[in-house]
Amino acid sequence: MNQIGKIPEKYRDRIIEVVGDDAGGYPTLVVVNAMHGNEVAGVRASRRAYISLAAIDGAFHGRVVFVLGNLRAFGVVKRYIDVDLNRIWDEASLQNAPRDREQESSEEAERRELLECLEWIEESAEGEMCVLDLHSTSSDSSPFGIAYPSARTARLMEALPLPFVVGLAGKVDGTLLHYCSEQKGYSSIIVEGGRHEAAETTERLISTIVLVASALGMISHETFPELPEHRKRLEKLSNGIPPRLEVIYRHAVEPSDEFKMAPGYLNFQSIAKGEVLARDGRGEIVSPTDGHIFLPLYQAQGSDGFFIVSPLSD
Ligand SMILES: [Zn+2]
Repeated sequence: MNQIGKIPEKYRDRIIEVVGDDAGGYPTLVVVNAMHGNEVAGVRASRRAYISLAAIDGAFHGRVVFVLGNLRAFGVVKRYIDVDLNRIWDEASLQNAPRDREQESSEEAERRELLECLEWIEESAEGEMCVLDLHSTSSDSSPFGIAYPSARTARLMEALPLPFVVGLAGKVDGTLLHYCSEQKGYSSIIVEGGRHEAAETTERLISTIVLVASALGMISHETFPELPEHRKRLEKLSNGIPPRLEVIYRHAVEPSDEFKMAPGYLNFQSIAKGEVLARDGRGEIVSPTDGHIFLPLYQAQGSDGFFIVSPLSD
């Protein structure tokens, strides 16, 4: 069961590849790509990771399903068509989904189809459901993860030698990550690999997939001897960024704001209270606090101007 040939016709465009089998209760890992249609590095990484993992064949313990998030936006290499697909998974948006398909936005159709696909995967899963949502960023960035920490996600977070940003609850509740973690109870994380078009972004995301598969017991050092190299590749990139950071501020943006980020900010760069971070139609936007800048908006589309994060002490 569960091999690519058994996939119903309607999911064949969305499911890129399937490797392994969860018979016997092994976990299912769903690797989600291109929730933002212009983030093609995840798709490239998934195709290459699939080839490496499929080569293990009989000794692979579990099932990895590689899926596309925003199919229509991916087709035209845009972040989204009508609205951000990764901001419409909150309860209110899901409840307000149009009943009539004619009334759906492009992303409401994507959400309905992706949801059906995830439910089909879950129904066919014999073991635990895990979701790895792969992204890339508009500007250069070292790789990092985002999670809602729980006993279930701890294993995935610890498997990756990357800084993790936590504390998004109440600030950005419309993400697929939030839905999968908090509503569905799947072990779920996001990993952002770096700048969209940079070759190393694909490499980092390949390592991410492999290390998560290892954390779930799907592969081992015996079946996949390259594991330590993948770990080393990510380990050397965290250059001084605290391992766990918490979101303490979000600057929301409307298209009418004419928001423009000040040039040159790098993800996780330190900032001081009062520093001018951006401008919009109303004037300068200054930082309300000390911290580190997170996800500064340097592309045309987006509803988050920037976030501010602060190291989390445990
Ligand atoms: Zn993204």
